Amino acid sequence: MIPLAAMPTEARAASARARRELVVGVDVGGSKIAAIAVDPSDRVVGREWRPIVTGRPERAGDDLAEVVTAVLHEAGADDRDLAAVGVGVPGRVDPRTGAVSLAVNLGWQDVRLGSILEARLGVPVVVENDVRAAALGLLRRGALGPVRDFAYLAVGTGISAGVVVDGALRRGPRGLAGEIGHIVVEPGGERCSCGGCGCLETVASGPAIARRATERVAAGEPSSLAAARPDAEPPRRGGPIPITAADVYGAAAEGDPLAREIAEAAGSRLAWAVALLVLTLDLERVVIGGGVAAAGEPFLDPIRSGLDALRADAPQASELIGRVDVMVAADGSDPGPWGAVTVAREARAAPVPAGREEVGHG
Ligand SMILES: [Zn+2]
Repeated sequence: MIPLAAMPTEARAASARARRELVVGVDVGGSKIAAIAVDPSDRVVGREWRPIVTGRPERAGDDLAEVVTAVLHEAGADDRDLAAVGVGVPGRVDPRTGAVSLAVNLGWQDVRLGSILEARLGVPVVVENDVRAAALGLLRRGALGPVRDFAYLAVGTGISAGVVVDGALRRGPRGLAGEIGHIVVEPGGERCSCGGCGCLETVASGPAIARRATERVAAGEPSSLAAARPDAEPPRRGGPIPITAADVYGAAAEGDPLAREIAEAAGSRLAWAVALLVLTLDLERVVIGGGVAAAGEPFLDPIRSGLDALRADAPQASELIGRVDVMVAADGSDPGPWGAVTVAREARAAPVPAGREEVGHG
């Protein structure tokens, strides 16, 4: 490196001008990639999102690098302004190596995402599980006030929770703490992407809600959803799903009986998940985010009703469930991308020692 004093004046000026020390947080979801660029004073200076094409892990590095470049462009910046990148991935991740060993909903297996992106972008890249990153982001930013025991429950293409206990993120020895989407809520129920049957994800994830609505409309059940999607037919394996979860919650809000039934089934099982988290860990708050939760009140109402029913059934449990604060993440609060920014910043503050070794793999 050339000492600053030895640089020509113009080079020194350019170097001083160029560096804005932006940290980019990339949240990889089952249906889209969302990114923000944040400056050192916590201002979001760029936002970008695009649909994700799943099932092509060999393109993961290219796709994510493109989003990083795009969000820098959006911020009026370029790669010289980039200080670090954090990436949240829905799956099993080793943050020490940046390797994604398994992300079922993305169709990724053994992707060395951190090294690939570092080679592409030339800055440190930290990869963490998306939901655990989001929970850490809420904690570090003080977004929930002085709350030290909470869960961030993400309901989207998959379902998972990031749990903070006594003011510390719980990862677990295998980095899998909070995989609540795979508790069985309907024994012998539908086959899940994990290989099990009747998991919470088969009832309350975005694709599950969409699939249930599509199948029942196609079977001829009366619903306003049929008018919205006259082309609805049972989804072929891997084919498009014509009715979305957002359609279902929209129709439920309008009072459509079929949509309400499906929303209530999802909500009652999500209430079980909330109760499970609260009863196990004595949490003060559960914040629900993710693509499906973006429906807002029509999404939250059946969860509240489900919790009311649990309180009524179990006076002893109602003490704990009654005190918990259940809320939907504020629109535009970006817990996922902010979580990715947070893990990148924490790694900058305490860099991983040289000679990283791969652990917890496979
Ligand atoms: Zn499962």
